[in-house]
Amino acid sequence: MSVQRLAEKLAQAEQSGTLPKVVIPVHLCGQSCDMAAIHALGQRYGFKIIEDASHAIGGKYRGEPIGNCRYSDITVFSFHPVKIITTAEGGMATTNDGDLARRMQLLRSHGITRDPSEMSHEPDGAWYYQQIALGYNYRMTDIQAALGCSQMSRLDAYVDRRHAIAQRYDALLSGLPLRKPWQHPDAYSAYHLYPVRLKLDGLKRSHRDVFDSLRARGIGVNLHYIPVHTQPFFEAMGFKRGDYPEAERYYAEAISLPLYPTLTDVGQQQVVAALEMAVGA
Ligand SMILES: *Cc1c(COP(=O)(O)O)cnc(C)c1O
Repeated sequence: MSVQRLAEKLAQAEQSGTLPKVVIPVHLCGQSCDMAAIHALGQRYGFKIIEDASHAIGGKYRGEPIGNCRYSDITVFSFHPVKIITTAEGGMATTNDGDLARRMQLLRSHGITRDPSEMSHEPDGAWYYQQIALGYNYRMTDIQAALGCSQMSRLDAYVDRRHAIAQRYDALLSGLPLRKPWQHPDAYSAYHLYPVRLKLDGLKRSHRDVFDSLRARGIGVNLHYIPVHTQPFFEAMGFKRGDYPEAERYYAEAISLPLYPTLTDVGQQQVVAALEMAVGA
């Protein structure tokens, strides 16, 4: 998230009386947004901050773990199977705010409390509970939680390995006509993704050709992500192509290279060799 663009947008929103209640920065690819600056804007314009750290578990910002909510109200994580650690499905929210924690606990299980201090009158008996809000079934099973706990113990090793692979890509790709993921000095990325951006101006191949050629050579590349404003649901709300030119430019150039802890050095060399062929270098 560009802090400068956010600041411009907020200044406009203040003029038109449309300031947001909440801003949700996404730590894309695992690298933290500039949270101190976003927090300062939050103080100035009065919005809350939820960090989407689905890509960033195990990452750090200014030396501290992402998820400690130093510059936000809540941080959310996803434990979907494609993420850095998984519980098969589910996720986690962290906060330092006791009221928000209680509220989330309540919403997790149908708005039901068994805490007498939250009830409207003394419990009728030992069996008693009260429903004090309309909630959801957002419970994680113990079996899934156990899976998550066991992976948490290996998280630092996973992220170390991701860094080693990313650094090796940085070195191996230096001669190719592409841009590598830029890293802010304040951020220690969790490296969920390693997207390169093709420099298409100097290439004889199209973005799609390069992608298809990699897939044809058996390389499991992907494209993260399709700009959401071009999806039919959002088009129906009035968003259209051209609304977010930087996101669209990114979509036209990006290819995510394979990056996972068990990727071997030989496997990585095969990825780079296939990419060299695909771009015609
Ligand atoms: C995966 C992901 C989500 C969604 O996570 P769920 O577990 O499916 O709710 C949200 N934001 C980002 C950035 C993600 O990568």
